[in-house]
Amino acid sequence: MIIDLNRLRNKLCEEISFSFQENNISGQELKQLTPVEVCLQAVCPVDDVIAVSGKTKVILELVCSRCLKTFAYSLEADVELTVADDFPQGRLPDQDMVLFGNGLIDIDPAIKAAIDLELPFIPLCKPDCKGLCSSCGVDRNDAVCDCNERNIDLRWEKLKELL
Ligand SMILES: [Zn+2]
Ligand SMILES: [Zn+2]
Repeated sequence: MIIDLNRLRNKLCEEISFSFQENNISGQELKQLTPVEVCLQAVCPVDDVIAVSGKTKVILELVCSRCLKTFAYSLEADVELTVADDFPQGRLPDQDMVLFGNGLIDIDPAIKAAIDLELPFIPLCKPDCKGLCSSCGVDRNDAVCDCNERNIDLRWEKLKELL
């Protein structure tokens, strides 16, 4: 998504808001169940630098790392970037800084980075997902198997032999 900041650049102080939906911003590896919603505000330039901040929302389809089922994950992330004509003096270029030549900036990389940052490291369909049984593979959220009990029984048998 390209946003136009020319309106801001020419005025001394004004705030402009953007809100739009984007499909397929998160790339091929993640399945989106909704378009990415982005709501941003750009604040008047200070020292030729424009601060853009806001929120992004999307519902993704993730795979639970315990039971391997897909589930809908509602993700919300903060977006913050600074936009400048040139790197201001005395300030080192940083990752979040975007340069605009003609007042148009592409905010997709910033949105994608914000989403990546909020992705769960270990996705879980629910916090207490019981996962799959390591012996018989049954989904222990749906069914009860006696693998665990049998293992415990076997251990008891071994113990009894020792006694
Ligand atoms: Zn699960
Ligand atoms: Zn089992």
